[in-house]
Amino acid sequence: MKTIENISRMSTFIKMMRKEGKSIGFVPTMGYLHEGHLSLVRAAKKHTDVVVMSIFVNPIQFEPGEDFKEYPRDLKHDEEVAREAGVDVIFYPSTEDMYPNGYATHVIVKELTCNLCGESRPDHFSGVATVVTKLFNIIKPEVVYFGQKDLQQALMIKKMVADLNMDIYVKIMPIVRGPDGLAMSSRNMYLSDGEKNDAAILHKSLKHAEILIKNGERDAGKIIKAVEDMIKTKQSARIEYVRVVDTKKLEDMKTISGPVAVALAVFFGSTRLIDNTTITVDK
Ligand code: AMP
Repeated sequence: MKTIENISRMSTFIKMMRKEGKSIGFVPTMGYLHEGHLSLVRAAKKHTDVVVMSIFVNPIQFEPGEDFKEYPRDLKHDEEVAREAGVDVIFYPSTEDMYPNGYATHVIVKELTCNLCGESRPDHFSGVATVVTKLFNIIKPEVVYFGQKDLQQALMIKKMVADLNMDIYVKIMPIVRGPDGLAMSSRNMYLSDGEKNDAAILHKSLKHAEILIKNGERDAGKIIKAVEDMIKTKQSARIEYVRVVDTKKLEDMKTISGPVAVALAVFFGSTRLIDNTTITVDK
């Protein structure tokens, strides 16, 4: 496994791979790798010849006052687990290389990005769309892998790829969870033991929502209330949102029908976690 730390060397490597006719699978990450990230690598290994993973804590997707500076970073550990999982190349560019002085271009996807996390993080998705576009242009992958954990992000990327005629297949992979059901996230390391125990309620509440829907509940308001009531039993929890949305445009639903997502963002102490589940209901 190689680690390549600048864009021009990455481009040279990609040119070589393409000349050899190798297909490239790409897994973009912010590092501090866990099983969720590695599940994307394993999927990429199955379908493509060369697996490139980027590790870049992208400053422009953090809102002012968010955790850009504190975001956990550990390249040595990441290199070890990435190598074991079968990554061929880690792309680890510097901020100066990605956004040199005078950088002025941003990508905005106008659908899918205003509701849910877009409400409290108005610049986040444009920051993600911009960095992902740059990474796609550098790495020129055939297939890219995103996690359903960040459902809104993954759907936005699909939309961007379609709208901008990027010749890339976007694969959305299932959420990987810990033994207590907590969705794996680099940010889980911020949680105290008590907050971590409390945060297990997120998956339980989503499971409960699934059961209610499977048993015939179609009133989105009732589902939301049931999920909120469960989360509120945990002392360290502060709900940002719990929503029932369609999975096409992520718009709020009143009556559940077709493919829907129950999505939530909840603080435990000062750590903001997101999670979701998708369910299809016959119309
Ligand atoms: P991040 O490093 O948090 O930006 O995540 C990089 C990629 O890994 C994104 O596509 C995430 O959706 C995905 N990912 C993060 N956590 C998980 C998880 N628990 N299960 C599956 N994919 C995940």
